[in-house]
Amino acid sequence: MTTLVPATHRQREQALEVLLGRELEPIVDMVGWRAAEDSYEVASAEGAVRFRRDTRVAHRYEIESVTGRNPLAVQDQTQFAGLAAERKTPHPRRSENSYPSAFEQFAQLFDHPSAPDLCVVHSAAHNWADQGGHLGEHGSLDVVQARAPFILSGAGVPRLKMADIGCRLVDVAPTALQLLGGATDGPSPLPRQDGHVVDRLVESPGRARYLVGVLWDGTNANVLYDLAARGEAPNVARLIDEGTACRYGALASLPTVTLANHTTILTGSHPGHHGILHNAWVDRHTGAQVVTNSPATWATSMQWLHPGVQTMHHAARRRRRGMTASINEPCDAGADYSTFGLVRDGRRPAPPPVDDLPDATERFVRPSKDYRWASRADHTAVEQFQSIWAEADGHPPVFTWVNFTLTDSAFHEGGPYSDMAASAVHDSDARLGRILGAVESAGVWDDCAFFLVADHGMEESDPTVQGDWDVALTEAGVDARDEGYGFLYLGSS
Ligand SMILES: [Zn+2]
Repeated sequence: MTTLVPATHRQREQALEVLLGRELEPIVDMVGWRAAEDSYEVASAEGAVRFRRDTRVAHRYEIESVTGRNPLAVQDQTQFAGLAAERKTPHPRRSENSYPSAFEQFAQLFDHPSAPDLCVVHSAAHNWADQGGHLGEHGSLDVVQARAPFILSGAGVPRLKMADIGCRLVDVAPTALQLLGGATDGPSPLPRQDGHVVDRLVESPGRARYLVGVLWDGTNANVLYDLAARGEAPNVARLIDEGTACRYGALASLPTVTLANHTTILTGSHPGHHGILHNAWVDRHTGAQVVTNSPATWATSMQWLHPGVQTMHHAARRRRRGMTASINEPCDAGADYSTFGLVRDGRRPAPPPVDDLPDATERFVRPSKDYRWASRADHTAVEQFQSIWAEADGHPPVFTWVNFTLTDSAFHEGGPYSDMAASAVHDSDARLGRILGAVESAGVWDDCAFFLVADHGMEESDPTVQGDWDVALTEAGVDARDEGYGFLYLGSS
């Protein structure tokens, strides 16, 4: 194990020559790197932009130079809002696409001590054939892959229903915590916070005594809102009717992958700041590979949180006296009850057999291995929620977080517009209904605020656009290690 030093200028140039070449253009949307302290460069085959972070004013960036076409010229969060608009431009080319908050997204990434030398962002069309030939993709910076649905509902939330609001996943924690009253700890409920309270989503700060957060992994926001509007997800529709949905979604942080953004939601900070940089990366200090998002490592993944980073569990407990619960969620730091805490103690909840799944669609749960696995896991989430709330004896958790995975499996496998994806929403909606029922049974409905969110979007890829940059780099003699897909560490061997 040896320390992995940053790449030299020459190593980077060699890799860029391959990555930005004509051959890889269909799959490489752009490549970003840190050029100097607080200075960054993002390049595509058509041009490049160099920009600088203004260290005196938060969230402000200045363009230093542009060569050719600026790949980050369009950063409009309203682009492709609504299912019709999204489907009208399938796999948009770079020049048709939008990359909201792109300067901050690249900059935050390189704040992590183990940031890669190059961050490769794959194109909207790119289909990872080696990931099982799945149709739905995410991980990129573009608006469809970054856009998660975000619905806030119940105590303290205005009833705007579907509203022209767009925010980011870093804003979810400060906004939702604003609904929980009681003893506060100053303006910022969480240390190292990148987000802020979205004022339009909070009508009565401190009105809620209980907060329930539900994550539907990998759910395309436009698809979900469309299904809810068409009566295919009545419990989601109820949350929208009794609250507010963000039409433009909540944007995931780069890389728009699972564990980095579960942690972003729960900490209010970007992956480069909370520490869970990606699903996998290289620890530069030891040169060792870190894998956080896998069944073997979920239970221990929070060892990689940066010191001092706290979650909504810590903050909720400071605002309201009581316990908190984290169900089926690897990012469980600070939770009193945690499924993965049980796993660490050797007491993993046993999922039921397929025949005992009341909310699973027959058409998919038997033929699809992933659909079946996720349905069983999600059913245990409902059972855990029901038993925690039923046994609370008048004191339910002040914050309960539930992670559902079926949506991600189905949106990947069938693509976001497939019957399989719609079935996953249908099944998950039934499970959501059981959770809402448990809150009603506890007699605290009027004092409870809810939010439903995803960790990233899901974009329909083009199965004819396949391939991997690793092959081209190897053929060109570039010494590169690719981690978590798209994080390149140069000169590592
Ligand atoms: Zn995910």
